[in-house]
Amino acid sequence: MRSILGYMEKYDYENLLLCQDRTLDVKAVIAIHDTTLGPATGGCRLWHYEDEMDAIDDALRLARGMTYKYAAAGVNLGGGKAVIIGDPKRKDREPVFRTLGKFINRLGGKYITGEDVGTTLKDMEYIRMETEHVVTLPTYLGGAGDIAPMTAFGVIRAMQACCKRVYGSDSLEGKRVTVQGLGAVGHNAVAQLKELGARMIVTDIDPDKVDAMVKTHGAEPVDPDTIYDADCDIFCPCSLGAIINQDTLNRLKCRIICGSANNQLKEERHGDLLEKKGMVYAPDYIANAGGTIYDTDRLGVGGVSHERGKEKVSRIYDNMERVFKIADRDKIPTYLAADRMAEERIRCIAEVKKYIDDLKP
Ligand code: NAD
Repeated sequence: MRSILGYMEKYDYENLLLCQDRTLDVKAVIAIHDTTLGPATGGCRLWHYEDEMDAIDDALRLARGMTYKYAAAGVNLGGGKAVIIGDPKRKDREPVFRTLGKFINRLGGKYITGEDVGTTLKDMEYIRMETEHVVTLPTYLGGAGDIAPMTAFGVIRAMQACCKRVYGSDSLEGKRVTVQGLGAVGHNAVAQLKELGARMIVTDIDPDKVDAMVKTHGAEPVDPDTIYDADCDIFCPCSLGAIINQDTLNRLKCRIICGSANNQLKEERHGDLLEKKGMVYAPDYIANAGGTIYDTDRLGVGGVSHERGKEKVSRIYDNMERVFKIADRDKIPTYLAADRMAEERIRCIAEVKKYIDDLKP
C-alpha cells in the first residue's frame, strides 16, 4: 500500500484510528469500513506484525471483509476490525485489553469488537470492563458463548443448498464429505454431518483429533497430504486458507466445496477455474457466517435467544440460493456473485435510509 488515504478512498473506508499507550506498550489499529447498515463490527486480532504498515493493511482488509460478510448475511451491521500489534502469547492481557477497551469506548458505539485470531473470551471480558461495545462474551456476561457449533451449522446449511443445486435434493444422506481440520468448527461439522447420514472422511495434523472422530463418529481417516485426492462428493475445508489453488484444483474430485476456512481461494482466478471445472463453490464468507450471525443476534434485541439465533443461521441456505440466482443472472462465478449480493444490499439500504432521512422534519 503506497498511500493509506488513497487506499481508503479506493475502497471507500470511513475511518482509520491509530492508538498507542507508551507506558503499557500497547499499539493498536482500528479500521472502520462502512457503517451504512449499522455500527462497524468485527473481531480484535492480536498478532505479531513485521511492521505497522502490515498491521494497518490487515485491519483495513479485514474490516472491508466484515462489511461484505454482514451485508450478505442480512445482518444490520457494518464492517470494522481492530488489531493489536504484539506477541499473541503476551502475558499482560488485562492492561492490554482494558486499554483497547478504553480506545473503543471513545468511539461511542461506532465500532463493536469481538474475538479473533490471538484473542480469547477472557480477553473480551477485560475489554468489557472498559466499554459495553464488545459482542463476543461468555454466557454469564450476557453473550452467546462458544459460537463454533453455529458456524458449523451454517456450513451445513450452505452445503445443503449446494446439494440442491448439484443433485436436485438438499439431503446429505449417503454423501461422502471430506473434512479438513477438526478444530472448533470441524469437529462440530463432523458430528452434525453424522446426524444427517453423511459419510465423513477426516484429517488433521493432530492425530488425537482424528482418532476422536474415528471413535465417536465412525469417520474414515486420511493423511493431511492426501485429503485432496480422496474420492468424495463434498470437500469441507475447516482449517487453512488458500487451499483452493492450482495444485489442489487438479486433484479434488468433489462436485462441491463448502467449508468454514477463511480465504479459501488462493487467488480469485482459482474461483473462475473451479467454476469451469463444474464444481460448485460456497463462498467462504457466506458459508462461515453462522457464528457471527448467532453472536451478534442479541444486539439491539435485548439478549441471547438460541431459537431466534439458530433460525437466523439457518437462513444461510437462502443466502446461498440468492448467490446462485445472481451467479446465473449475471453469468459470473459464485465468489463474485456473493460480493455483488452484498453490494446490492448496501446500495439498497442506503436508499431506504436516505428516504427515511428525507421524511424527517
Ligand atoms: P481451530 O484452530 O479450532 O481448528 C483448526 C484445525 O485445523 C486444528 O485442529 C488444526 O490442527 C487443523 N490444521 C491445521 N493445519 C492443518 C493441515 N495442514 N491439515 C489439516 N488440519 C490442519 O480453528 P476453527 O475455529 O475451527 O476455525 C477453522 C477455520 O474456520 C479457520 O480458517 C477460521 O478462520 C474459520 N472460521 C472459524 C469460525 C469459528 O466460529 N471458529 C468462524 C468463521 C470462520
